[in-house]
Amino acid sequence: MDNTLDTQAMRRALHKSPNYFRQGFGHGEEAESTMRSQYHSNLIQTIRDHNYVYSEGDVTIYLAKSFGFCWGVERAVAMAYETRTQFPKERIWITNEIIHNPSVNAKLKEMEVQFIPVDSSGTKDFSGVAQGDVVILPAFGASVQETQLLDSLGSKIVDTTCPWVSKVWNRVEKHKKADFTSIVHGKYNHEETIATSSYAKRYLVVLNIQEAEYVANYILNGGSRQEFLGKFSKATSPDFDPDLDLERIGVANQTTMLKGETEAIGKLFEKTMMQKYGVENLNQHFLAFNTICDATQERQDAMFEIVEEELDLMIVIGGYNSSNTTHLQEIAIERNLSSYHIDDVHRILSAEVIEHKPLGKAITQSSNWLPSGKIKVGVTSGASTPDRVVEDVINRIFALKN
Ligand code: SF4
Repeated sequence: MDNTLDTQAMRRALHKSPNYFRQGFGHGEEAESTMRSQYHSNLIQTIRDHNYVYSEGDVTIYLAKSFGFCWGVERAVAMAYETRTQFPKERIWITNEIIHNPSVNAKLKEMEVQFIPVDSSGTKDFSGVAQGDVVILPAFGASVQETQLLDSLGSKIVDTTCPWVSKVWNRVEKHKKADFTSIVHGKYNHEETIATSSYAKRYLVVLNIQEAEYVANYILNGGSRQEFLGKFSKATSPDFDPDLDLERIGVANQTTMLKGETEAIGKLFEKTMMQKYGVENLNQHFLAFNTICDATQERQDAMFEIVEEELDLMIVIGGYNSSNTTHLQEIAIERNLSSYHIDDVHRILSAEVIEHKPLGKAITQSSNWLPSGKIKVGVTSGASTPDRVVEDVINRIFALKN
């Protein structure tokens, strides 16, 4: 990987290419009406009209005031649908799930949009992409290497990368230009973070505040270089040297991480660099950031509000590999609420048994999940979950209880 590449120049050149598209194709109304017919929910609208609290029989649903599709996802899905209309005969590929949602991805398959195959080692196989094929980049972006490869193959690129994600890339490019190391708060193997890291010259990905504290301690007090490199073996740029590459740092983030944690990590590194180099020299050693996505913030804030109710249980709906959904569940767990992360209504097997994914664990089945008598159920969903899926879940709970 050439981490000295001028990715800003690469992006500028790409934006001028006749084979590159990052706006819609003028079929917006058609795409919108397809989306409305597939994803809109009358029940959800009714619950909204009741100020997000709605009862039927023994069940009162408390719906989070902000949940489900964010505008970045809506935009990406609409662009993917428009692509089919614009290129009715061409082969269309997607480099990855356009968003982490099974029903949306199933719909795309139905429209004969193919996913780039991934081999057992997790490497994508682009050998099937021929010149003139259309390739859609998902809402969370694609790496520099993938983008370059697709450009060199002569494919038409439809780039649905969310502007919030591009904003983080701009930030990381600033770090690179100023010769700073980017510390990215995210999951090193998440597509968005892989893409973001590819825009950096040097990077280190930290998953949480504990990892950030470990790095901050290393900056201030040193430690075992070997242990450091072992701990972050998959989360750094090649040849990363913790003794040299942590002198000038900037923070960036995967847009769907817990907002409070991202902020805390930013503050921790600011304080660390201040302590090490003095307030007067801070600007030479630390670059601040403000790239937390509004939609993520709003969904998390709505979740903090809902867990204040005396809920009997919380249902969090979203793809199992969706980062923003798991973070919503974390909030419920912190409050010791019984919470179930499901990706679809079919996970509710009966009034006794639910199949769900506990945080950080494999999918499992739990019994006695639905208490008897009158109950208050909190419901939210991740940024890539259509309202229709939320409606199905609520209706199933009503049916089982009433
Ligand atoms: S969650 Fe935020 S960054 Fe991600 S697609 Fe939605 S608006 Fe964009």
